[in-house]
Amino acid sequence: MSAKHTIDQVQQVQGKGKGMIRQIYWHMKGEQQRPAWNCLMFNNAARPKAYFTMWIILNQKLVTVDRLVQWGVAVDKNSVLCMNTEESIEHLFLQCQYARKLWERLLGWIDQQSAFPMTWGQFLQWSTQHGKEKSTTTQIFTIVLAEGVYGVWIERNNKIIEHKSKMEENTAKEIAYVTIARASPSIKNVVRQWKF
Ligand SMILES: [Zn+2]
Repeated sequence: MSAKHTIDQVQQVQGKGKGMIRQIYWHMKGEQQRPAWNCLMFNNAARPKAYFTMWIILNQKLVTVDRLVQWGVAVDKNSVLCMNTEESIEHLFLQCQYARKLWERLLGWIDQQSAFPMTWGQFLQWSTQHGKEKSTTTQIFTIVLAEGVYGVWIERNNKIIEHKSKMEENTAKEIAYVTIARASPSIKNVVRQWKF
């Protein structure tokens, strides 16, 4: 919408005791839609570092190798977790075999049977669909999602920086412990009943 249009609209509703600038501000703020994935961040009890990493990923601001290459930095383009293809957010978190095994294990644990998505668009749709309800299952899902993406990111960084790697099973187990530890008492009771 053009600025002229906005001012015209604001002038039409003005005259109720509020200043022009304030009216324009609220009018424009109303135009900015919150992203659908906002529900994944709301009341998410994951660790702050996991929560923050997921927020960066959902904003597609994580510095993966494909972005470094775009900026002209000379780096190895391969995904360090599989050495099969070029690293991107989509590959690293959705398509890489390490991530897929990890998600399969975690989703199986929380009894989330649907197949984990392969593309970024599918992922946004799938995760917001599972994260928008106000249920115990949703709360557990959002913690596992944040801790899962953080787990993949840390595994990738450890492999690059320290040349260390961990089995998917061990990463999944740690995420399960963290989820139980971070969950509210009522959710803890539900989660404890599940066998890892
Ligand atoms: Zn990979």
